[in-house]
Amino acid sequence: MSPAEEAASILKELGVNADGGDLVSSSPIDGSEIGRVRTADPAEAARAAVEAFERWRTVPAPRRGELVRLLGEELRAAKEPLAKLVTLESGKILQEGLGEVQEMIDICDFAVGLSRQLYGLTIASERSNHRMMEQWHPLGPVLVISAFNFPVAVWAWNAALALVCGNPVIWKPSEKTPLTAEAVTALMKRALKRFGDAPEGLVQLVQGGREIGEQLVDDPRIALVSATGSTAMGRAVGPRVAQRFGRALLELGGNNAMIVCPSADLALAERAILFSAAGTAGQRCTTLRRLIVHERVADQLVARLKQLFAHVKVGDPREHDTLVGPLIDESAFDGMKRVLGERIERVDAISGGYYVRPALVEAEAQAGTVLQETFAPILYALRYREFDEALRLNNEVPQGLSSAIFTNDLREAERFLSAAGSDCGIANVNIGPSGAEIGGAFGGEKETGGGRESGSDSWRAYMRRQTNTVNYGTDLPLAQGIRFDI
Ligand code: NAD
Repeated sequence: MSPAEEAASILKELGVNADGGDLVSSSPIDGSEIGRVRTADPAEAARAAVEAFERWRTVPAPRRGELVRLLGEELRAAKEPLAKLVTLESGKILQEGLGEVQEMIDICDFAVGLSRQLYGLTIASERSNHRMMEQWHPLGPVLVISAFNFPVAVWAWNAALALVCGNPVIWKPSEKTPLTAEAVTALMKRALKRFGDAPEGLVQLVQGGREIGEQLVDDPRIALVSATGSTAMGRAVGPRVAQRFGRALLELGGNNAMIVCPSADLALAERAILFSAAGTAGQRCTTLRRLIVHERVADQLVARLKQLFAHVKVGDPREHDTLVGPLIDESAFDGMKRVLGERIERVDAISGGYYVRPALVEAEAQAGTVLQETFAPILYALRYREFDEALRLNNEVPQGLSSAIFTNDLREAERFLSAAGSDCGIANVNIGPSGAEIGGAFGGEKETGGGRESGSDSWRAYMRRQTNTVNYGTDLPLAQGIRFDI
């Protein structure tokens, strides 16, 4: 079946109408049009979200969790068709599409449990007969701006938490992946219908490109802007939100490294490198882009990786033995070509799609394009002699998302994780830098934006903290022992 035919049949199965409107969705598999969607009015979405917030914030959190539980059920039931649509629209292989939907299900489960655990502290007061505590209250409408490469999971990471925290959600998906957003919204609508009494405007979808995104970003009614995408996008969005004293959660680009030490289990490292450098055709924020290898093992490892890269199957992401699908579009191909020049190896898979062989580039120094995130499968290999040098190389880039070390030396592993070790939001030992679990907080430092979403206590970003002091005595002692007698 052609991508267009397959998309039409999945959309019908999921009850989505995607044949009208100005925003065209193309499949990276062959470049063909697979659907069209309509944009919506950002100001109207913000108005409806504020109205929904007034009711939703008073619904008990465990009851709000029930809505997310129902969403998880809908996602479980539709896992396969939704994953296939992710593959058709983003070009990632079906196994990764299934993994992405599983991640949505996992965060729903997490958020349901969380809906009974949104607790604050009780704090010892310095005054007698006083009690101090902090409460976490709903924040307000949350805007989710998402990137093409995780077209559905990023929304779920944000929406599941935002909803149990008592906030309405407006989603501005990537203009490159509008159909998967429509499909997820249709599933959400089913969950809302089963839930029964959720306010109108609680979960909204606003399709469109950068301009629509900017209008929402500037709207003072949006309490939190959670934006996932390139550092260039974050550089534009961050100051605009700050200008109006809104809250921003930025999840931006990465330039992730792996250090391979002399004691490393090389067979394990090879597998981790192949998945994290070539998987999703190098289009993950956590993709491995820099390999920092000890000179004693470099020749052996690089030779083996060259072999693996030369043989990894690049092609139609719907075929079960394909490991590397197409790049998202021509501009991604051009970006890779700018770096590699004539060394770029285009794979003749399906006409209309941009299929490339993952590239391994041995770099003399960490300079020029090695410092940038080129959103394509290019892995730079650098050599090191002293461990300090490896650590320095790991950290000496503008981005700070994910990092990994392969070593069987406890001292090296612990130094990598220490305060003087990796400066990234994610640091792994003997696993690659990509493929995070939802239980941990996800995000990175420096040009990656500093935001954290998903697990651990990331939920706090979606709530406002209130400190309360209660006097249950008959005196009015002042703090710091101040006397102010009348
Ligand atoms: P992109 O920056 O081109 O677009 C991302 C989203 O931002 C889209 O929805 C786009 O319409 C919107 N946007 C762009 N400019 C905007 C503006 N000025 N105002 C409001 N909205 C705007 O990114 P992309 O090509 O879709 O995705 C790839 C990038 O995303 C890579 O850099 C990758 O590392 C990053 N990414 C980061 C994470 C993370 O969690 N850190 C996850 C996925 C992707």
